[in-house]
Amino acid sequence: MHILVTGGAGFIGSHVVRHFVTGYPSYTITNLDSLTYAGNLENLDDIRHLSNYRFVKGDITDAALMNSLFEEQRFDGVIHLAAESHVDRSIASPAEFAVTNVLGTVHLLNAARQSWAGNYQGKRFYHISTDEVYGALGGEGMFTEETPYDPHSPYSASKASSDHFVRAYNDTYGLPVVISNCSNNYGPYQFPEKLIPLFINNIRNGKPLPVYGKGENIRDWLWVEDHAKAIDVIYHGGKDGQTYNIGGNNEWKNIDLVRQLCAIMDSKLNRPAGESEKLITYVTDRAGHDLRYAIDSSKLQRELGWAPSIQFEEGLERTVDWYLANQHWLDQVTSGAYQSYYDAMYGTG
Ligand code: NAD
Repeated sequence: MHILVTGGAGFIGSHVVRHFVTGYPSYTITNLDSLTYAGNLENLDDIRHLSNYRFVKGDITDAALMNSLFEEQRFDGVIHLAAESHVDRSIASPAEFAVTNVLGTVHLLNAARQSWAGNYQGKRFYHISTDEVYGALGGEGMFTEETPYDPHSPYSASKASSDHFVRAYNDTYGLPVVISNCSNNYGPYQFPEKLIPLFINNIRNGKPLPVYGKGENIRDWLWVEDHAKAIDVIYHGGKDGQTYNIGGNNEWKNIDLVRQLCAIMDSKLNRPAGESEKLITYVTDRAGHDLRYAIDSSKLQRELGWAPSIQFEEGLERTVDWYLANQHWLDQVTSGAYQSYYDAMYGTG
């Protein structure tokens, strides 16, 4: 079995690559990543020596490269995570999100379709998507797989569009596809522009903690390794053409999450209780900020037997411990120094 994982040098992708490379020694895993600011090969330092792992530096928006990669290798499956992933960046530069997330996905779909040439036995194209495609909820209810798409940010619009393309390739060409839509992930190796690592880093450095609006927005949070496990069971057991929602059943109001994080940081850094909370600074709300996301993952639990493995309080503490034990990683990432890693490890080609 030879699987192409795209975006494997990013946050979730690195956990997925590690999970498959170590969990399935008989599989070959090719990690394709263009190493944008969010891609960091140091995330895979512990497994890069393993013989069933291979890295290819490449951009999914390069159609010719995608075609030649699929000609050179007979992939049995694709797990597609490469994307621009940060909502705030999508508000500043939406076109980049359309190019990478939509066009890049179409180029990959084309390359897979051409390579498999209608011989779909044992083949699978798996698109990793987000719950943000479903829009916003009020105080009640949850997103199910039947919830109509209603994206509000350029990021979620680009992910919704790529989901539609993936389904269209199934409907039109019979390409064997599967999609999962997951809630917010947290854990080690997340780029410190996202809420949890950003705030850990700011607390560490005594910098303000910018909370949007009144901190009333609600998100569901999932331990990233539980997402990787869900991807494993869906890759192996999901039905062609189906969508699976993935979530932690773990809703938190942003401000409550931030307070919880502050309390953990105070205790880990031996600071007086309440010290980190003083850094909380309320800032103008994000444009189009969705109030609440909550995801019903009962289909995945029922059909494929997956369930989240750890409670949020424990996962948050593990996350803080990881960032504090890996302050070098944080310093490298925030200074941009990590970007010379590829040249050092793989040469400048
Ligand atoms: P990330 O930003 O940490 O990683 C994205 C990776 O994609 C990086 O390694 C980057 O270098 C690579 N990449 C970007 N553009 C590329 C291109 N043109 N060609 C090749 N590689 C490219 O993102 P993440 O948080 O790990 O998210 C991974 C996927 O999961 C995304 O598709 C995202 O939409 C989805 N997702 C994320 C979350 C979350 O909470 N982070 C939740 C649900 C779904």
